This record gives sequence, C-alpha cells and structure tokens, in this order.
Amino acid sequence: MESLQEIVNEILNCKKCDLYKTKTNYVPGAGNEKAEVVFVGEAPGRDEDLRGEPFVGAAGKLLTEMLASIGLRREDVYITNVLKCRPPNNRDPTPEEVEKCGDYLVRQLDVIKPNVIVCLGRFAAQFIFNLFGLEFTTISRVKGKVYEVERWGKKVRVIAIYHPAAVLYRPQLKEEYKRDFQKIGELCKRKQPTLFDYL
Ligand code: URA
Repeated sequence: MESLQEIVNEILNCKKCDLYKTKTNYVPGAGNEKAEVVFVGEAPGRDEDLRGEPFVGAAGKLLTEMLASIGLRREDVYITNVLKCRPPNNRDPTPEEVEKCGDYLVRQLDVIKPNVIVCLGRFAAQFIFNLFGLEFTTISRVKGKVYEVERWGKKVRVIAIYHPAAVLYRPQLKEEYKRDFQKIGELCKRKQPTLFDYL
C-alpha cells in the first residue's frame, strides 16, 4: 500500500493538466494521516495557492472555527480538495481537470480510510457521491443528510454541507451551518466496532 507522502510527492510534480503552469504552489492537502474524518473542498483559492496549504483564507478561517465548535483541531482531521492546483481567477474546475486530478483524492482516501467524509460544496459532493454510487441532485437537496456506504471493509458515512465561502457570502446560513457541524461532531463520536467488541 502506498503512503500519503508518496501521493503528495507525485502531486508536487504533476503535469497531468495545464493548471500547473498558472499555479504558484501545488496544494496536496494537510492534516492527520490517521484522521477519522476527511474534509474535501473544491480547489485552492488565492491564499491557498500562495501558501501551498488548503483552506487558509477567509473560508478556511470559518472552517477552522466550525471545527473548533465540535472540539476538533485542523491537525485532527485531513483537509484536501478535488483539484490540487488553483484554477485561474478561481474559475470552476473543468470535467477534464476533475477527472485527471480526482485520482489523487481517491488514492488519498484509500490510504486514510476515514470513517466520515465531509464534502464542502457542490463540486466536492458531486465527485464523492459519484465515487460511492450515490445520487447527487443539488447541494441544497442533499446537504446535511448522512449517507452510509461500504468501503474499506467497514461502514463509511458521507455528508455534504455548504462550502464555507457560500456561508460567508450568505451569513443567514450560519446557524444552519453550525447545526450541520454538530451533526458531523456526532458522526465522529460514533464509535466504530473494534476487535475487542467481538471477543
Ligand atoms: N476553497 C476551496 O474549495 N478549497 C480551498 O482550499 C480554499 C477555498
């Protein structure tokens, strides 16, 4: 089985699409390799491109605040994006970019094997739902619902919520956002059976 670092090294040399030509830094992902929960965003923005780290701008600040509200630090979770390079002027990812870059995300998930996957916004939700054979309609229809899938020989929970940038843009969504994070907190607390439960 490959390591997360091997995947990161590959990303740092990636030329699979043209985004490497316009980016400043690759943004592979950050956090805990043994995380129980992985947060997936869309693509790096300007701040992330400059720092080489995911969610370090205004949206990242809100994400960090929401994590803290459920007792999690950024180091406790793994945070990454569907695309590892910033699209120029934050334009939407193209289907070709998603297809080429998405393979890294699939491999990152296969190494981490999280119990919970949180999709931040439409692009992440579309990708993850498709990966697990779940039907994606619109972000407002699926948001906040918990889906259970079988992966890595265990039950994995998938939840899509609004992208934090959407909540910054529409502050009236913040209360609902807090409730969605409470739900994520509950999912993280739910214990996975261990060998000891069967002895
Ligand atoms: N928006 C994203 O989707 N990802 C980031 O890393 C930052 C902003």
